[in-house]
Amino acid sequence: MKRTDGQDRSITAKWRPATQAIRGGTWRSEMGETSEALFLTSGYTYETAATVAARFAGEQDGMTYSRLQNPTVQMLEERIALLEGAQACRAQASGMAAMTTALLCQLSAGDHVVAAKAAFGSCRWLIDNLLPRFGIEGTTIHAGDRAAWESAIRPNTKVFFFETPANPTMDIVDLEFVCNLARAHGITTVVDNAFATSALQRPLDFGADVVAYSATKMMDGQGRVLAGAVCGSDEFINDKLLPFQRNTGPNCAPFNAWVVLKGLETLDLRIHKQSENALKVATFLEGRVPRVLYPFLPSHPQFEMARKQMKAGGPILSIVVDGERAQAHAILDALQLIDISNNIGDSRSLMCHPASSTHHGVGPETRADMGVGEGMLRLNVGLEDPEDVIADLDQALAKAGL
Ligand SMILES: *Cc1c(COP(=O)(O)O)cnc(C)c1O
Repeated sequence: MKRTDGQDRSITAKWRPATQAIRGGTWRSEMGETSEALFLTSGYTYETAATVAARFAGEQDGMTYSRLQNPTVQMLEERIALLEGAQACRAQASGMAAMTTALLCQLSAGDHVVAAKAAFGSCRWLIDNLLPRFGIEGTTIHAGDRAAWESAIRPNTKVFFFETPANPTMDIVDLEFVCNLARAHGITTVVDNAFATSALQRPLDFGADVVAYSATKMMDGQGRVLAGAVCGSDEFINDKLLPFQRNTGPNCAPFNAWVVLKGLETLDLRIHKQSENALKVATFLEGRVPRVLYPFLPSHPQFEMARKQMKAGGPILSIVVDGERAQAHAILDALQLIDISNNIGDSRSLMCHPASSTHHGVGPETRADMGVGEGMLRLNVGLEDPEDVIADLDQALAKAGL
């Protein structure tokens, strides 16, 4: 295997993102394949016993076991790191494997975490249910409120954890402010960047320490595989993340890594086109439903901040109708083109009712606390002609009395 850039990362590091998305991190075998090779192997063989010893002692580079390294997975990790502007990245089995690993690898009993109230349901579950079982306390706050971050800090606060835009309320967190505050207190920021991806927003450029991903969403982009990733400094990845990951095994399968590598080649094209389509759909909806939440609509309460830290609004928006669950479900049931689905980041338009799906598990009190009401619907705008998506919404809203 050899790197297509002649072993020298200083060359790839200079490539612009569109080039990195296609070529970053590529290694070629002696077959000279153009597309990345898929290494479906759990183990590796060695010429001599001394080679094994040298590899296990860390004196020689090379593969030993796919829970520790796999060439296809490594190509994905190098490519994501280059796109993110991170020193290092490790791929995970899913977005939730990435979030769990990013938190547990650095937290111990007695530590404290400050997290945004509005979050993906399972991310909230980690803070509310999993971490307390290991003696790690969490405080959840309104992440748009600067003073709330500051006043939640305790002497034992180790991590700030949040997503921006948040799922499904579309709240924006001021990355620069929150990351600077964390730095000043020696706190590590972990940002879930699933909605925007590095194509629209690079949290490390605003001072974040760790960026964690569901690669299932925009990175694959075609709804095929589950995957995740954690990016950070060499020190964080080598000293904190790797000892945890290598011994607990939340690894990304080589096949899934290969699919995400293919997805990354078109990430930039897809996310910009889907953002353009989403803005058109959001603009249409604004005249038809009581509330539309989309970061690049001037009516979004944090429109200016979204424009400061994101290149486009992304594919996802939420709407709120007055008729609660009955009306929201009636809209879903009347759709003819858009699928009822709780996935996002797909090239297909997909719509769901968070209160009865993605956010069912957190319970009614937490939903009320994070602003996920019974009348909220979340829409992932795909790559279809936006006029067809608008026509479908138009007829579905009419059938539901809007
Ligand atoms: C989907 C999602 C996750 C979880 O990712 P999986 O790949 O489904 O495990 C975490 N955070 C956000 C913001 C998500 O949208």
